[in-house]
Amino acid sequence: MSCLFCEIAKGNIPSTKVYEDELVYAFRDIAPQGPVHVLIIPRKHIESAQALTAADDALLCHMFACARQIAESEGVAKTGYRLITNVGDDAGQSVHHLHLHLIGGKTLKWDN
Ligand code: AMP
Repeated sequence: MSCLFCEIAKGNIPSTKVYEDELVYAFRDIAPQGPVHVLIIPRKHIESAQALTAADDALLCHMFACARQIAESEGVAKTGYRLITNVGDDAGQSVHHLHLHLIGGKTLKWDN
């Protein structure tokens, strides 16, 4: 099964890298919703937050640690930012590989 974000994490599809380590890859969203919009993904293919298991506890904790570090390096740690993960159709999940959206750099509205 071909997965867009698996291919991006492997470097087979180009992306603008923000951060990487052995467990996580982070890159700029192609259609940014703010001055800062970074996607943080596990290298391991996980469909969504709904597919997480207890075996992924440490990975998820690590993804949040990476988010904090990226917020610092992107200059939004003090001004604030939003961390979002869409799950399934009603949330508008379009890529079925778990990802955190880190969005900031402006005052964000909550319309819905
Ligand atoms: P979601 O709708 O929550 O599944 O988020 C998927 C995100 O991936 C959207 O914000 C897209 O703009 C973004 N996206 C899709 N393709 C790419 C790509 N090739 N490079 C960077 N971001 C992408």
